[in-house]
Amino acid sequence: MNAKGKGLNTVCTHIGELEDTVHKGAVSPLYMSTSYAFDDVDVKRYPRYFNTPNQEGLCKKIAALEHAESALIFGSGMAAVSTALLAFLRAGDHVVLQQTLYGGTYNLVTEEFDKYGISYSFTEGWQPKDFEEKIRDNTKVIYIETPSNPLLTITDIEGVASIAKKKGIISMIDNTFASPVNQNPIDFGIDIVIHSATKYMGGHSDICAGAVAASKEQINRIFHLAKNFGGSLSEYTVWLLERSIKTMGLRVKAQNENAMEMAKFLESHTDIDAVYYPGLTSHKDHELAKRQMKGFGGMLSFELKPYLDASLFQKSLKLIKSSMSLAGVESTVLSPSQTSHSLMSPEVRAQQGIKDGLIRFSVGIEEPEDLIEDIQNALAVVKNTSKTSV
Ligand SMILES: *Cc1c(COP(=O)(O)O)cnc(C)c1O
Repeated sequence: MNAKGKGLNTVCTHIGELEDTVHKGAVSPLYMSTSYAFDDVDVKRYPRYFNTPNQEGLCKKIAALEHAESALIFGSGMAAVSTALLAFLRAGDHVVLQQTLYGGTYNLVTEEFDKYGISYSFTEGWQPKDFEEKIRDNTKVIYIETPSNPLLTITDIEGVASIAKKKGIISMIDNTFASPVNQNPIDFGIDIVIHSATKYMGGHSDICAGAVAASKEQINRIFHLAKNFGGSLSEYTVWLLERSIKTMGLRVKAQNENAMEMAKFLESHTDIDAVYYPGLTSHKDHELAKRQMKGFGGMLSFELKPYLDASLFQKSLKLIKSSMSLAGVESTVLSPSQTSHSLMSPEVRAQQGIKDGLIRFSVGIEEPEDLIEDIQNALAVVKNTSKTSV
């Protein structure tokens, strides 16, 4: 089936599916083979060549979802990030990266790039001019992530992409937080879109995978490095990921709606100091988010009033679990200052606006009333404790 003219949920369900010509089963057959006889010596199927039947089928679906010509899937989000970046960077090159990146990406750049002779600069802000300022003669890649973690800051995708285009620089985006349901950066001129498929694409907290979508030419370049680096995804996980993406449109829509409801509830609550959600009119980048996002996503952050104990609050939640990862159908929270951003000094955290009482909330598909009740109960526990301790 061709994706042209097909709506989101049709693409999620059908594009790239493999036909079961033998038994006429409803879902793609799973081919576990690592060895394939070849009639044509130019087509050698092998998992690490990224060209087994299940891999190729899933890549078609992901390319269609991101309005791209082509895609590749990897064994993790970081395999996708590292392979994409290193495919376009060599010794002597420079890359401009947005400040406030996913921690793994930040570590990759700051711990590994020196070894390859690749230099890098982080922006000081999120405006297109902040990226332009850092460009040097040898800059080959500009890398953004929007909405950002954990404060859901929005970067102007079109603004950054057009600066990159003007200077002949490759633009890349980590589109994980938005998912292809809410944001398609290629429509705004971005060259390469990267996902941790561990998050919304997988969506059930049981798959680790990554994806890259781009033009045929750029995917070909990434592929050449990918087969040498060897970060391909196992066939069974490919098959599970295809299954998961079938419901991605439905899941993410439910998560968008729930997150909006949680954001409004929290914003109106007297025990909450601040809420960061791009769907709220009070969010500093709301207008920009409206321009480039189709939905505002399932991620938000909020701060308890300073006199309330944020870690006791987290422990008092019963339905909403504390967890490092995100984007599953189940709601989870984490404290960035104690987990993802704990290695940063308190000063740097403060500079980035990450307070100790900040809580990141990955909103699932549960009934919103149940989530609200859980939060209300936990707040009651925390308030009782703070009263008795005063
Ligand atoms: C999780 C995540 C990654 C890394 O993905 P893995 O699948 O854990 O390797 C990259 N970017 C963002 C925004 C993420 O949330």
